[in-house]
Amino acid sequence: MRLIFLGPPGAGKGTQAQRIAEQFEIPHISTGDILRQAVANETPLGQKAKEYMDRGDLVPDELILSMVRERLSESDVQPGWILDGFPRNVSQAEFLDKLLQEIQQACDRAVNFEVPDEMLVKRLLGRGRKDDNEVTIRHRLEVYRAATAPVIDFYRQGDRIVSIDGSQSIDHVTQTLAIALERT
Ligand code: AMP
Repeated sequence: MRLIFLGPPGAGKGTQAQRIAEQFEIPHISTGDILRQAVANETPLGQKAKEYMDRGDLVPDELILSMVRERLSESDVQPGWILDGFPRNVSQAEFLDKLLQEIQQACDRAVNFEVPDEMLVKRLLGRGRKDDNEVTIRHRLEVYRAATAPVIDFYRQGDRIVSIDGSQSIDHVTQTLAIALERT
């Protein structure tokens, strides 16, 4: 099972990815988590990424792409994976397509979590992460609309996308997702 989870910040991608990853015993690969770890460890990647993350901007592709290439070459990803937070723009999606061809893997589905903006803001404010203050949240939603939303069309073209109503309760979304994935 190889899945890409798409959707705005606060849509519940991470929570759902964790659950599905556990169920299918495959790694949950969150580029945000990898970056936060790098920042905490003060690695060269973390030092470069920090200012972008604090502002709610995307970290430059040159840093992200090598990070993803490395992660997808590790042995634990052979049975499958869930990508959460990547790809974040069309050039990352194109890169991923090429990378997957190169390593002879294919993504089974891209799952798009749909949640109204006001609910996203409420959820993110409740989460309390460092980049979850109102100004940064609004900015991240703008970045999402400008850079990330076009990724949905990218996967729609290949008929690889399924949309899920992410505004329901966590358990309800997990159920809807499980049904959608059975059809995969
Ligand atoms: P997330 O945990 O997915 O909300 O990501 C937190 C922050 O990490 C984002 O606001 C970006 O600054 C950065 N980030 C995570 N994934 C990516 C990515 N694929 N491309 C660029 N920046 C990213």
